[in-house]
Amino acid sequence: MALVSINPADGRVLAEYPEMEDAAIRQAIEEGHRAFLEWRRTDFAHRADLMRKAAAILRGEAAHFASLMAYEMGKPVRDGRAEAGKCAAGCEYYAEHARAFLAPEPVATEARSSFVAFNPLGVVLAVMPWNFPFWQVFRFAAPALMAGNAGLLKHAGNVQGCAAAIEDVFLRAGFPPGLFRNLPVTGSRVGRILEDARVRAVTLTGSVEAGRSIAAKAGSLLKKSVMELGGSDAYLILEDADLESAAAICAKSRLINSGQSCIAAKRFLVVEPVRARFEKLFTEAMAAFTTGDPAREETMLGPLARRDLRDELQRQVDGSIAKGARPLCGGRIPEGPGAFYPPTVLTDVKPGMPAYEEELFGPVAAVIPVRDEADAVRVANDSRFGLGAAVFTRDPARGERIASAELEAGNCFVNALVQSDPRLPFGGVKDSGYGRELSAYGIREFVNIKTVYAA
Ligand code: NAP
Repeated sequence: MALVSINPADGRVLAEYPEMEDAAIRQAIEEGHRAFLEWRRTDFAHRADLMRKAAAILRGEAAHFASLMAYEMGKPVRDGRAEAGKCAAGCEYYAEHARAFLAPEPVATEARSSFVAFNPLGVVLAVMPWNFPFWQVFRFAAPALMAGNAGLLKHAGNVQGCAAAIEDVFLRAGFPPGLFRNLPVTGSRVGRILEDARVRAVTLTGSVEAGRSIAAKAGSLLKKSVMELGGSDAYLILEDADLESAAAICAKSRLINSGQSCIAAKRFLVVEPVRARFEKLFTEAMAAFTTGDPAREETMLGPLARRDLRDELQRQVDGSIAKGARPLCGGRIPEGPGAFYPPTVLTDVKPGMPAYEEELFGPVAAVIPVRDEADAVRVANDSRFGLGAAVFTRDPARGERIASAELEAGNCFVNALVQSDPRLPFGGVKDSGYGRELSAYGIREFVNIKTVYAA
């Protein structure tokens, strides 16, 4: 079976990639394992040197990588360049800090010497989604390789050009051949790859369904797994919020990547006293984003990545309106080619509606009226997801209290847009998955935390 890249702006086929056969996959695993056996003995300075070279390639060729992303999944080129820059920053961050994050930790016992050492695990498989086709991969690969592991990438079917380009970045940076390999395969081969004894762990970023399936497989094989899954982030707009600023941040967060981000704001919990004013400001801010060709410099909002994803979004919008949600703007598929969808605001969203219960992976905002702070917290936590959340209030102590103690999510922000940052751990709870990426926590996911006790 071939993997097909289709330009979502016009529906045309860009390229077809033949799927890698089982024998070639086994060979890639073997080469990865052999590369690992040598790589694990290299020092941090050497690894950091290569990682900085990868960062330089990412920065130097950001425009090319942005154009690949635009053609394969519809990301506006400005955002694609920023994504390549973020990958470079992630590589540099781990080049600088990996040694300290993995330095042996002495522990006082009665032994002559006792300490904790951090050893790499071996070949780690990464199953990745198309929405941030570079950043999702680099935020796994930079810490995993700096820790001494090898990486195998199973990327999403529609971004195989990006996947091949990423493998090429590592090769040109001077990483040993085989240490980081792209496997052009469909999800159906992932189970068998994991069964190979030389593959020691798996990380998946993607949907809850994919997560359940891969986590179950990894569990049956007793292999370490990290799951970064969906989200339905709640943004709480309290009565003392700066509404102008909140509306602008909320619109930006909902529309990032055409709304196709796990940590996009998806539910807007607005307390009754400020509801009318917020809805007006927010709808204006959302409607100001216009869609366009992602390859053009001025475009802020591209198409969705695939037409089937747009059809699914329309089903969720229609299902919510049929149950009483009111559209304040958007809500209909436009005429013309491509997978475009307009910024949409639904209000009066209630339990039982798709916009309340499900993740909306596109530019559709669900406004859920709430009575007060307690009600806002209750509704925020009334979700099977727990990835990110944000609180808007002019009282910083109130915001920090709610963010730190009340919200059931892995990434909680105050008066700001939820985003990933190499310095901060990233991950979720509940159906949003488990394990953490980024920061010191992320690099310690794929290591053997080893006790050394010398009497
Ligand atoms: P997806 O359908 O789950 O695909 C993600 C990856 O998993 C793809 O490489 C896909 O391969 C593979 N896959 C899917 N089902 C599989 C299975 N049963 N066995 C093995 N591999 C399988 O997700 P998506 O639609 O591409 O991405 C959107 C989802 O990802 C959203 O829910 C979003 O919230 C989530 N996401 C989460 C994070 C986070 O950090 N928490 C970040 C970004 C996105 P194929 O393409 O070949 O099917």
